[in-house]
Amino acid sequence: MKNNHVTSLKINLKSVDFNLNYFKSKLQKNTKLLIVVKAFGYGSDAIAITKHLQNKVAYFAVAYAQEGIALRAAGIKTPILVLHPQVENLELLVTHQLEPSLYSHRILDAFIALAKSKSFIDYPIHIKFNTGLNRLGFLGNQLSEITTKLKSNTTVKVNSIFSHLAASEDKNETEFSLEQISIFKKIVDDFENQIGFKPTLHMCNTSGILNYPQAHFNMVRLGIGLYGFANEKEKTADLKNVISLHSYISQIHTINKGGSIGYNRGCIANKSMKTATIPIGHADGISRKLGNRNGFVHINNQKAFIVGNVCMDMIMVDVTDINCSEGDKIVVFDNQETVETLAKNSGTISYELLTAISQRVKR
Ligand SMILES: *Cc1c(COP(=O)(O)O)cnc(C)c1O
Repeated sequence: MKNNHVTSLKINLKSVDFNLNYFKSKLQKNTKLLIVVKAFGYGSDAIAITKHLQNKVAYFAVAYAQEGIALRAAGIKTPILVLHPQVENLELLVTHQLEPSLYSHRILDAFIALAKSKSFIDYPIHIKFNTGLNRLGFLGNQLSEITTKLKSNTTVKVNSIFSHLAASEDKNETEFSLEQISIFKKIVDDFENQIGFKPTLHMCNTSGILNYPQAHFNMVRLGIGLYGFANEKEKTADLKNVISLHSYISQIHTINKGGSIGYNRGCIANKSMKTATIPIGHADGISRKLGNRNGFVHINNQKAFIVGNVCMDMIMVDVTDINCSEGDKIVVFDNQETVETLAKNSGTISYELLTAISQRVKR
């Protein structure tokens, strides 16, 4: 299908490979790589990413069972860890050979009961420990209760135990991160002693990989770094941009001095102006906070600021001093710096800006 005049998001798989190799170069030879593709692969296309990487990495992870099911439906055979399964979805999860992170007695008990009812043998599970993020996970002092439950049955097998750093990107919180790592190490030692074997261990996300090489253990969980963001200017500069967002000029208007632009007359022209209407709005992920000259696009390599309010399906940009025509291509972003600037100007971070790009936008 011809894709003219449609807002579209492009994914550069060569940049994915580049970034993957960059992070691989930070790992020991035998450290495994898990790629986090939750939220549609950080707003890109989880199926395209996993199809491309399925023979290059050990694991994928998603947040919810449904996200894993979509990957299985696309033919992905790689092991998939579900980071935040719900008791209600466990049956569905095992139907699609997804591997649950079990983070509380409630969900551990429910899963063991399910595994028994299905007469599973050694179904792979992952135990999540809370070492300071206080989001999901068992506490270290619950360990013996967990291992008692696990030792007394053969329906499940602990493939990995893991934890998550709360502030791996923040140099001011190094002490806290090191404390989390040492709490995790103690849990690991006790766990291995009580259970009598060594599961895979993992703790680091993107910034953890870069800042805490001593905490790589047997596997790392790479998320935003794959897409070219390292939560730090200098390190982001080492990476290649993966996701770019383009659109087209639908219509150009000349606004006389005193005329207004957009809903609630958000912009009043204080001189004669020329505006371009672009088919992308807040329903596509362009925050309303980017209205009124907080956000911009690039047209023929020049910055065109958003004027007035961001509409659901459109923005209007100031092209008074830009030579352009209806039908011209525009760039919303095609590099990390622009993403970071737009994120900052809308009071958020790259993670939210990327994952906010809605499914209406063609990939
Ligand atoms: C999202 C997530 C990651 C990936 O984090 P990045 O900062 O994007 O690398 C890793 N582990 C867990 C548990 C997560 O929820």
